[in-house]
Amino acid sequence: MGLLSTNITMAAVKDFSVQEKLSSLIYLQKIDSKLDEIRILKGELPMEVADLEDELQGLQNRRTRVEEEINGITDFIEGKKTLIKDSEELLARYEKQSDNVKNSREFEALNKEIEMQQLEIKLAEKHIKDATLEIGEKAKKLEAASKAIAIKETLLSTKKGELEKIIVDTEKEETHFLALSNNARGKVESRLLTSYERIRKNYRNGLAVVAVLREACGGCFNAVPPQRQSEIKQHKKLIVCENCGRILIDEELSDTVTI
Ligand SMILES: [Zn+2]
Repeated sequence: MGLLSTNITMAAVKDFSVQEKLSSLIYLQKIDSKLDEIRILKGELPMEVADLEDELQGLQNRRTRVEEEINGITDFIEGKKTLIKDSEELLARYEKQSDNVKNSREFEALNKEIEMQQLEIKLAEKHIKDATLEIGEKAKKLEAASKAIAIKETLLSTKKGELEKIIVDTEKEETHFLALSNNARGKVESRLLTSYERIRKNYRNGLAVVAVLREACGGCFNAVPPQRQSEIKQHKKLIVCENCGRILIDEELSDTVTI
């Protein structure tokens, strides 16, 4: 009789301790999942800012390119203006010379030169007109790029401010949950903790302890047979998913654990 009652007591203690083990694991998992969430969030924030910075850099490059094109066209126009001035000087000289022509051959030759310079001037004027139109188009592009840059710069500075604040906040949160996690780790049996860490590392979502949801493993969604489901609910032993190896718990127990 004595032995039997001892066994019962031991069994009761053991059952209770499995449930406790499970609860401490669930607690740890919930904290670690929270940490994972924070880290994912933190990981994306600098990326967002970096993307914006890239976009801004692209726009600034575009603006520089258009500015350089405008400078190039301006130089081209200046060149043409010089050409016109030179031609005009030549023309003035030819006009003077025409007063002193000795024969018709000389006159014709001079006339040809004059016509050529007049043509040069006309051509240069046409080039200047076209180039001026082109500058007008480029100036519009430049204005659009400058406007886009101003918008992006405002957005970037707002984002940077927001992100810095979020980073500060998440760091505070992270420190808080890290302390909780370390504390919770101390309450999990070392062998169990090793398994937990190993399973967690194996899965990108960091879930080592999952609830049975709609009769399936909450980690891999493989069906859990009814017999195993009832064993899980009894909390008498640790049961892992046959498919993914995650530690299975019932939703009810999971809900009792809050962080
Ligand atoms: Zn599974």
